[in-house]
Amino acid sequence: MESSSQRIDVQQSRESVTNSNAVNGFIGSVGNTPLIYLETLSELTGCKIYGKAEFQNPGGSVKDRAAVSILQDAEKKGRIKPGGTVVEGTAGNTGIGLAHVCRARGYKCVIFMPNTQSQEKINLLRMLGAEVYPVPAVPYEDPLNYNHQAKEYAEKLENAIWTDQFDNTANAYAHYISTGPEIWEQTKGEIDGFVCATGTGGTLAGVGKYLKERSNGRTQIWLADPSGSVLYEYVTSGGNLIERSGSSVTEGIGQGRVTSNLGTFVNDLTGALHIPDEKAISMLYQLLDTEGLYVGSSSAVNVVAAVELAQKLGKGSKVVTILCDGAYRYQSRLFSKKWLESNGLGHAIPDSLKKYAVL
Ligand code: PMP
Repeated sequence: MESSSQRIDVQQSRESVTNSNAVNGFIGSVGNTPLIYLETLSELTGCKIYGKAEFQNPGGSVKDRAAVSILQDAEKKGRIKPGGTVVEGTAGNTGIGLAHVCRARGYKCVIFMPNTQSQEKINLLRMLGAEVYPVPAVPYEDPLNYNHQAKEYAEKLENAIWTDQFDNTANAYAHYISTGPEIWEQTKGEIDGFVCATGTGGTLAGVGKYLKERSNGRTQIWLADPSGSVLYEYVTSGGNLIERSGSSVTEGIGQGRVTSNLGTFVNDLTGALHIPDEKAISMLYQLLDTEGLYVGSSSAVNVVAAVELAQKLGKGSKVVTILCDGAYRYQSRLFSKKWLESNGLGHAIPDSLKKYAVL
């Protein structure tokens, strides 16, 4: 078997011989995603609403940027050597991004994930060569939580790292140096509001910090939060950390604490919007029907929040959000009438759009 250093050399020499505008491998193709003008919603609101098409990253989600940044940072700091093992606790997308980068860099990838996540994501991780351990979905305070299990597993191995996406700030940094500047360029600096939901907080804090600095504080940064998360209450009460209660069918978003990636940026947010699942599911189907966009539920939460924020900011306002990933990863749930009904959300699909729930 060829060694990882040989593989990296092969990539580098490929770059030098092609002498073209091509990007270099998986890592080179992360980022520079389009900003999509959401025509129907913009017309309906009299505002300009945009979605950053992060589902177009080569691993299919916004988390590819964090995966590349975290591993590049670890390599730079000498925390991992060729042939090493990357271990992470993840609801799926970070793991998928990491699994791709691990193939491209010759690392082994081990993923611990809550057993509530979709089978599509588990299958994909295994197809990408990752070892996957579904574990009970217990809160962060419980030692059996997927993050603690990932950390302990990595600590027992030689040449292994726990990438710690929640508190490793190389995650938010990726968005500060890439997603934020791309949005600024794509809107030509005309952006009144940015809103998105958080899992680790990397996207919100990284993009938000950049846009706030670049606009000299003119761009408002808002949080979108599903049920079962504590951050809406935290932001709107000025720092009150409540017990987690309620739940959501969305995956990858909602948080029980202020992570290091969100950090003190949480105090710089202009406000927060609570987005219930009913609104998100309805938007998911509307986005498909009117914009032709097939996105996951966190993207739908984000778009509902973008519409609400644009309405708050008034006619003509320009608001950007994130289209985090595609619906392919969740289709057995989100496009199954039975699954939605069993989660009390059958009524959320508008009658005229029930035809899309074909599974
Ligand atoms: N949407 C999806 C589908 C995700 O998987 C994640 C990450 N868990 C997010 C949104 C949130 O991104 P971040 O971790 O940067 O807050």
